[in-house]
Amino acid sequence: MDEKHTGALTEPIYTLAVASRMSETPAHSIRQYIDKGLIIPFKTTKKRHLFSKVDIQKLKSIKKYLKEQGLNIAGINALFSVIPCWAIKSCDLEHRYHCEAYHSILKPCWMASQKGPNCQNEDCRVCDVYVFPEKFTNPKECIKKMTRS
Ligand code: SF4
Repeated sequence: MDEKHTGALTEPIYTLAVASRMSETPAHSIRQYIDKGLIIPFKTTKKRHLFSKVDIQKLKSIKKYLKEQGLNIAGINALFSVIPCWAIKSCDLEHRYHCEAYHSILKPCWMASQKGPNCQNEDCRVCDVYVFPEKFTNPKECIKKMTRS
């Protein structure tokens, strides 16, 4: 995925049926992933979900995690939850103190109800942490990032 084209990649254009077809994932599984916070598709004013190319790619990655790496949904959630977003976003200690994502490892940072000042006005759907989680889900790299910050 080319980071220069993130704008086009994050544009919400696909309906649930299309996302299901493109990712070869049943619609009921996609709904389950949304409920669990693994993906955060755009929600229209009529409460319909729209998916971007990034979301489709994430659905394909989830499928791979489930089929090839033996993870279950809780395992994928755990993988996303330990991404050290505060190191990636360079949050200082004061900002971390006010951020649920820093204190909790139960859900991905984009699902945190109380975000630190660096993220409060951010759109998680276009954030590198959400768009490129595979860049940050290597446990060894995570530890290196954490010990560097
Ligand atoms: S903007 Fe959202 S996805 Fe990015 S680090 Fe903050 S909470 Fe996580």
